[in-house]
Amino acid sequence: MIQTKPLIVKLGGSVITDKQRRFSVRRETLRRIARELAAAKEPLIVVHGGGSFGHPIASKYGIAKGYAYKRQLMGFSLTHRAMEELNRYVVDALKEAGIPAMTIQPSACAVVRNGRIISMELAPIRKLLELGITPVLYGDVAPDLSRGMSILSGDQLVMYLARELGASRVILGVDVDGFYTADPKSHKDAKLVREVTPESWRDLAKSANNSKVKDTTGGMSKKIEELLPLAELGVEAEIVNAARPGILRRAVLGERGLGTRIIAR
Ligand code: ADP
Repeated sequence: MIQTKPLIVKLGGSVITDKQRRFSVRRETLRRIARELAAAKEPLIVVHGGGSFGHPIASKYGIAKGYAYKRQLMGFSLTHRAMEELNRYVVDALKEAGIPAMTIQPSACAVVRNGRIISMELAPIRKLLELGITPVLYGDVAPDLSRGMSILSGDQLVMYLARELGASRVILGVDVDGFYTADPKSHKDAKLVREVTPESWRDLAKSANNSKVKDTTGGMSKKIEELLPLAELGVEAEIVNAARPGILRRAVLGERGLGTRIIAR
């Protein structure tokens, strides 16, 4: 039987875009990352965040708060459009690196209630993986059965896909070396945490700050909170620095301990 247990790699918006400048893609970084991902020997799923494309529009229109006023309808459309634009850069870079990639639009296949995915059509994704095609998903807006509209974060998609497809491993690429005791960009004395477990998280959560740049889906703590339940189900994850050349390649080739591991033990 063809092995379809996928490796899921998330490319943080902080890596592939410049979060301080609207609609700015880090094209060279993206190209390098795509080449590093091409080293993967297992079926691969790529998920990317919104960075300076999705987040500013989504927060301007309060999409994450749910539907309350008519102007949000245009905001919903515009946020999706911006994410599609970023997605095109990602898929193009993957194709240039020799990865047959294809976009799966999250808002068209995920059923969302109260900001959480309650079901998702996965048959096409499974078939793509079996064929050897890399599905690419992204943080998206979503019609929400109870709130009207919400934001479906790339991190939540990673968690859902990893659980439902039984991922071999999850790798989250960000622009810092992993999870620290505080935001390393504003706290010089922050220490890199090598491992997070459900037990150690209770203490760590108290001291950790969130992202300095305002983010519609929350910063680093939220990622850990998505990844811990996954670890408890047997899917290990690691947060690594995808902005540092070579790290992602080593991670997709199976190396452990390059950043912060999120494990159940
Ligand atoms: P992305 O959009 O790339 O998925 P975020 O911007 O949401 O990621 O989160 C990454 C950012 O979180 C880092 O750039 C870092 O400045 C910030 N951050 C906040 N708290 C922490 C922490 N405790 N450890 C590491 N990074 C943190």
